[in-house]
Amino acid sequence: MRQSRRDRDDEENEQPPQGRWRDPPQQSSADHRTAELTLSVLCAGTSTARLPAPLWCTTPVALTQKTSGSVTALERERGAGVIEPRVPAGAWWSARPGPVDLAARQRQGGPMRVERTTCCVVGGGPAGMMAGLLLARSGVDVTVLEKHEDFFRDFRGDTIHPATLRILAELGIAEEFLDLPHTRMPRVSMETASGPLTIAEFSRLRPYGFIAFLPQWDFLDFLYDRARAHPTFRLIRQAEVTELVLDGGRIAGVRAETVEGPLEVRADLVLAADGRDSVVRERAGLAVIPKSPPIDVLWFRLSRAADEEVPFFRSEGDGVLVSINRGTYWQLAYVIPHQGFDRVQERGLPTFRSAIAALVPTFADRLEGVTTWEQVKLLSVRVDRLRTWWRPGLLCIGDAAHAMSPAGGVGINLAIQDAVAAANVLAPALRAGGVTTGALRAVQRRRELPTRITQAFQIRVVGNLYPRSGGTDADRPDPLPIRLIRRLPALRHLTGRFIGMGVRPEHVHTAVGTPVG
Ligand SMILES: Cc1cc2nc3c(=O)[nH]c(=O)nc-3n(C[C@H](O)[C@H](O)[C@H](O)COP(=O)(O)OP(=O)(O)OC[C@H]3O[C@@H](n4cnc5c(N)ncnc54)[C@H](O)[C@@H]3O)c2cc1C
Repeated sequence: MRQSRRDRDDEENEQPPQGRWRDPPQQSSADHRTAELTLSVLCAGTSTARLPAPLWCTTPVALTQKTSGSVTALERERGAGVIEPRVPAGAWWSARPGPVDLAARQRQGGPMRVERTTCCVVGGGPAGMMAGLLLARSGVDVTVLEKHEDFFRDFRGDTIHPATLRILAELGIAEEFLDLPHTRMPRVSMETASGPLTIAEFSRLRPYGFIAFLPQWDFLDFLYDRARAHPTFRLIRQAEVTELVLDGGRIAGVRAETVEGPLEVRADLVLAADGRDSVVRERAGLAVIPKSPPIDVLWFRLSRAADEEVPFFRSEGDGVLVSINRGTYWQLAYVIPHQGFDRVQERGLPTFRSAIAALVPTFADRLEGVTTWEQVKLLSVRVDRLRTWWRPGLLCIGDAAHAMSPAGGVGINLAIQDAVAAANVLAPALRAGGVTTGALRAVQRRRELPTRITQAFQIRVVGNLYPRSGGTDADRPDPLPIRLIRRLPALRHLTGRFIGMGVRPEHVHTAVGTPVG
């Protein structure tokens, strides 16, 4: 059951909105062993050619999708409306079937159910689940809408950083969390052109001096279990948000397609945590600043022999291979230049298998089992950031505010830190019955600098370790950060702090509260 679900595709301001306002539609482990994982990068293998400029399009085009479900008399009285949906060319709406069959839902029609909550969180990823837990814990009524039926989503990272572990410790749940099967990475070592090198040391960080590796769905299940212990928490699965509800110039809720038909959730605040393809941020017309040339990831598995160990990270020529130990199998991520999949396919499966075997020779026999491209899934990656993270009644956090690449494995931690900062600022306001734009602005002010610095790190420092078009260059010297750490070994504690704790790590300031209102 779990196995088959893992295979499922994951789809996964102040400025005036790009869409115009219009009237509402009438119809509408047990073995938590300490494993020192080795990050082996053959830096000599990377070439100096640049990745292509971002090719994805931000130009909006009108979309003719209409909501189903009727609008209540109350809404019309209040002049409620929805934002004309506009999406970038080729965006999720046309290209990606969601877990909810929209066409079937529209045929089914049915009256729009209207529910009320204090905070509606869109998206049950790391940011959304942590925000939901913290707000419910402080007594705020929270409804999380998640479009999938469970957390068994495709790969977006398995890393839980020391800063996140410290948050769990502050919530008193870190030890329970560390009872889940996981592996620990106390330091990151690389195999460079001039020999092995530890580039980041976490062991001095407190209270936990390691990165914990475990499947993201286990982490999200864990947060969900803790959140649902609070009576004001609610998670609605298979609820795909498609529209925003506007009330008097303020975002007052969302509309979603659910298995039980169309649903409208009215809220004092909509917290958009719906990831890098955020529908909410797009519907709100928030301006996106693309930040870097993207890379793509080819995602596939090979079986794993008991106790087999291979380098976590290998890089050579056009490709980087990340090997994640998932017990009985290796989850493999082969990082290639953006839009390089066609080229990989043109060269053929035997060449692909040889490239992987060149990186990890012990995989050679099992690679024979990769006989069709169906077994290899393409995940595209990008880095971007919203100019303004909020509008009245709405705040974006996590990847919805700033899409992160896998570089350095820091996106989950950043999303969690956003959730903590948002809850710290907003929980008292939500309990008191109103969130001002000043409070929303304060969250962005607090989290924008860490985001900018982390993205710069992903693009300029770690980006140098990722593949570039143009083949190998064996004579290329190690990148500057590597040379610096080799000369000044103490720097590895600084890099460890930067990667493990992030910039301006948050503390939980929300108190445990009795439910309000
Ligand atoms: C290939 C790849 C590998 C990565 N590897 C790592 C790594 O190793 N370590 C790391 O720290 N980071 C990694 N990242 C980055 C990391 O995954 C993200 O930064 C992080 O997941 C952001 O968390 P989030 O909660 O903001 O968004 P997400 O994790 O994207 O969660 C968004 C949630 O919203 C739901 N959703 C989306 N749209 C809707 C809708 N319309 N209605 C309802 N629900 C919706 C989704 O189903 C999802 O559950 C990787 C990213 C990529 C692309």
